[in-house]
Amino acid sequence: MSQNLPTINVNDKSFELFISSETIQKAVERLADRISVDLDGKNPLFLVVLNGAFIFAADLLKRIKIDCQVSFVKLSSYSGTKTTNIVRELIGLDEILHGRTIVIVEDIIDTGLTMAEAINKLYKLEAAEVYLATLLFKPKAFQKDFKIDYIGIEIPNDFIVGYGLDYDGFGRNYPDIYKIIDK
Ligand code: 5GP
Repeated sequence: MSQNLPTINVNDKSFELFISSETIQKAVERLADRISVDLDGKNPLFLVVLNGAFIFAADLLKRIKIDCQVSFVKLSSYSGTKTTNIVRELIGLDEILHGRTIVIVEDIIDTGLTMAEAINKLYKLEAAEVYLATLLFKPKAFQKDFKIDYIGIEIPNDFIVGYGLDYDGFGRNYPDIYKIIDK
């Protein structure tokens, strides 16, 4: 069945088409519509988690119809194709968060360790409320219990690339999402 799907090679691994650009765009539009309704009047600050969320964030923000601000942070726990459990610091946050409504914009939530740290840090910086918007979610890998407010697409536990997501730095530039073939 999978032989007919388009495949790509990224570094030493092969990936097959998993989620088309069209499906992604529809999911992004649904999220943007919901966020625009829910957070109207709250002047949210969107915090985009670099690097992986940069394409998702660009598509999402173009469709957000309410007053808002956007900023970019770095925070990652990933190296190669396996989570490492090492969560790095939040880098690049210049805004004063006191009393603000924050929407974290993330590419994918896997174990949830990265986001658990991020949410804690943002509340320590006195954010009034922290919402979470992720394009992708791996429910079977999730180890935490925080609420994920906005989920684009739920996926199984496969390693994926494309639409901002990388394999050792490569593969971010594909408009579609591909999943690993051989493990
Ligand atoms: P978590 O802390 O939830 O386990 O991991 C979240 C981070 O791991 C994401 O921001 C992303 O950078 C990375 N990640 C998790 N699953 C995948 C995947 O399937 N492909 C890629 N490229 N990165 C992933």
